[in-house]
Amino acid sequence: MEKICVAVRVRPPVTEESASGAYWKVDDNRISLQKLHDSPVSGASYAFDHIFDESCSNAKIYELLTRDIIRAVVEGFNGTAFAYGQTSSGKTFTMNGTEKDPGIIHRAVKDIFDRIQMTSDREFLIRVSYMEIYNEEIIDLLAVENQKLQIHESLERGVFVAGLREEIVNNAEQVLKLIESGEVNRHFGETNINVRSSRSHTIFRMVIESKEKDTNSVNHFYSSDAIRVSVLNLVDLAGSERIAKTGADGVRLKEGKHINKSLMILGNVINKLSDGAKNRGHIPYRDSKLTRILQPALGGNAKTSIICTIAPEEVHIEETKGTLQFASRAKRIANCAQVNEILTDAALLKRQKQEIEDLRKKLQGSQSEVLEQEILKLRNDLLKYELEREKLEMELKEERRSQKEREQRIREQQIKIDNLSSLVTSSDVHGNSSQDCMLMDLLTVDGVLANFKTLKTEVKYASEEQDSGRYRITEDYNDSNSKSQGEPFRTPCFKAGPNAFVAKRSQYSTLPDCSPLPDTFSNVADEDTWLKMNRGYIADLDSIQMTPARKVQSFPSSDVTPDGSNKNYNQEVQNLKRQLELAIEERDELKRKHAEQLTLNDRLTCEISELQREAQLFQEIPQRLCECAANCKDIYVDVLSMTQSSISDGSSTAKLLSSMSEIGASLFTTLESHFSMALDGPRSFTENDFKEYRKVLFERFNSTIKSLVSSETQSIQNEQVTNLPCSGEYKGCAVGGEIGYWKENLSDELHTIKERYHDLEMELQSNNQLLEACKQRYDTLEAEFLLLKEERDSLHKMVSESSKELALVTDQKENVMKDFNTESHKRKGLEEKIKQFSVAFACRKMSLASFHGEFKSKIERLRAQNRVLALKSLEC
Ligand code: ADP
Ligand code: MG
Repeated sequence: MEKICVAVRVRPPVTEESASGAYWKVDDNRISLQKLHDSPVSGASYAFDHIFDESCSNAKIYELLTRDIIRAVVEGFNGTAFAYGQTSSGKTFTMNGTEKDPGIIHRAVKDIFDRIQMTSDREFLIRVSYMEIYNEEIIDLLAVENQKLQIHESLERGVFVAGLREEIVNNAEQVLKLIESGEVNRHFGETNINVRSSRSHTIFRMVIESKEKDTNSVNHFYSSDAIRVSVLNLVDLAGSERIAKTGADGVRLKEGKHINKSLMILGNVINKLSDGAKNRGHIPYRDSKLTRILQPALGGNAKTSIICTIAPEEVHIEETKGTLQFASRAKRIANCAQVNEILTDAALLKRQKQEIEDLRKKLQGSQSEVLEQEILKLRNDLLKYELEREKLEMELKEERRSQKEREQRIREQQIKIDNLSSLVTSSDVHGNSSQDCMLMDLLTVDGVLANFKTLKTEVKYASEEQDSGRYRITEDYNDSNSKSQGEPFRTPCFKAGPNAFVAKRSQYSTLPDCSPLPDTFSNVADEDTWLKMNRGYIADLDSIQMTPARKVQSFPSSDVTPDGSNKNYNQEVQNLKRQLELAIEERDELKRKHAEQLTLNDRLTCEISELQREAQLFQEIPQRLCECAANCKDIYVDVLSMTQSSISDGSSTAKLLSSMSEIGASLFTTLESHFSMALDGPRSFTENDFKEYRKVLFERFNSTIKSLVSSETQSIQNEQVTNLPCSGEYKGCAVGGEIGYWKENLSDELHTIKERYHDLEMELQSNNQLLEACKQRYDTLEAEFLLLKEERDSLHKMVSESSKELALVTDQKENVMKDFNTESHKRKGLEEKIKQFSVAFACRKMSLASFHGEFKSKIERLRAQNRVLALKSLEC
């Protein structure tokens, strides 16, 4: 167990005037209120781990308060640092800092990457997120479209914000850029305390996963399976001042309340935690989003430091005292931090391992920078895909849950409608029979009761039956509120009463999902409570967050005739039934669309992976062409060198060969340069370019051969010519045998030369064929290249069309959902009307019953009178 580190930072006074008072005296790690209106103040003295006066820089604060946490985070511990204090006391200055003196966040980010650089035996994966809690709603600052995010909890991930954008990063600059973009989305309000006053809590979060590297292996395979996962939260809280001081109203008031609500729960949590383990009892982490997210940092598994910022001016003394009291309580909290090692697949590093290894293999030989970029891209893609899938899963779960609820409600509605219909039928039956009875009675009583003709005499029985039916309905409505069951005229209540939240809170431990925050939270953060809380009072949420009770609805006008009301009633029931049927149809339609969309999603995912595979193949083609050209060149060089080795006499054949080798080399160089152009950039050479080039080469080659052949023939002729006079010179001589011998020699030589010439011609021919084959191979490869290019373009087109289609379908789904919501609203309205109607109906029945009683007694009385009169007349 280690205590939370708590420090206080005094902001420099705003004006020189305010500086002259010097109300707070800082002495080492103690701060005391020095004098108030020239009289010393006793009891206002507090000691903390560190107290930083106005001259202290962010660098020093980071050094003393956060550096150790950052070191621990890199080693696998959770860490949290947050700034608490009234608006304008310097929280944001401390967390964000300025360009000259960067704040804790900036320094922490840099420090983390520096430390990672130094840790050569571990592999790291870092992802960041940035969120804001505004009006008790979580807003994603890295993706503005992600609003009203929910907190969830799972065994593997602990408490997490579902759907929050996370970016994988591999250097500090990326993180700072992300923070900058997130900062733009923050809500700023204005109060009369500070022009730029933050009305929200922001949480900058870094998740650091690391794994031991196997240094012996070149392929970065891992030696151990355990992955360390740590979370760093850097929190800039909203102003902790009392609401009354902001002078806010309207929207501001709402913000003020919520801000204090979160801070109040934070205060409650801190106060409870500071009570020591024995007296703690239930810690209300789940009562606000802020405390739920920061749960590990408060009395849990994390190293935590709190920096409380205070304003030195006299006008802020009360607030400052409040902050210091809060800080004193926080100082007593002990946390129990430990390295988080996991062996399951919950760590992203582990889940992505295989994909990264595949990519590494594919990119072997690439520059390390390219490799790193590709890996980062792939990692982010994989993460986005996972987040998307997680979001879809949540939506599906939510949809299933609400569908179950809808079905349940529909079933209940059906039962209610059946009850009501049977009620109406029985009321009709009794109504008619009673009317007959009454007519019989009226016949016996001579026109005395003419004024009551319209009344039904037997309504009493019908009314009794109907009442019993209505009781049943009331029970359905109020199953959570048994008190109302005995009160026939109480408004049926669908919504749980004010005590429902209190009751639910005791079941928090059994509800792992969303925080059951109350809808309304009036009268929570009044000044008194707030001040009391700063002194350690634990606000009793159960007693103060009473939702005002629902008003009893006034009955609809009762001057409708019973017949008319019954008809209307039947009509209403029919309408309601129709509405129900429609709602069920719509639900089925929605189900169908949802299933369709799921299959479409699957199909698109398959298509995308197929396209990626093909694109990969396509990218490999220029490389293969290059290899082919290199092979051809090798063959060519081999052939030439063989030929050259057989002719090394400097003759014309050797000249021819060297000229050929020159041409061949230049041809292959051109080929290679074209290929590298195709590999590097989009520009590639056309077929015409190639033909042109080939023509030039052939012309050059033919002219060389022709010139060689003509020079060869010339030399032979010259030789013959020079030989002729010689033979003449020796004509007269008797050395005929010698001449014959020379002639023979010469003809042999000529023959050999001719043969050589023939061989060379053959070689040339075969070389030409080889060149031609090369050219053809090149042409086919080029054609293939173009085809693949076209295919890629068409695939790109298909992908973009598919995404458009997907967007369209999503739009349609949203529209359908909207329609469905309107319909459910309508249905709720109808239900309300039925309720009102049943109450009015019961009221009517009751009055009819009482009237019937009166009426009966009058008839009795009249009958008795009649009898007396008849007797009297008989006596007379
Ligand atoms: P809060 O975030 O608590 O509302 P801010 O950080 O925005 O307050 O600070 C209010 C003003 O005071 C800002 O202009 C800020 O630059 C200034 N300020 C706060 N603390 C310091 C400090 N230690 N040194 C210099 N200026 C400060
Ligand atoms: Mg601020």
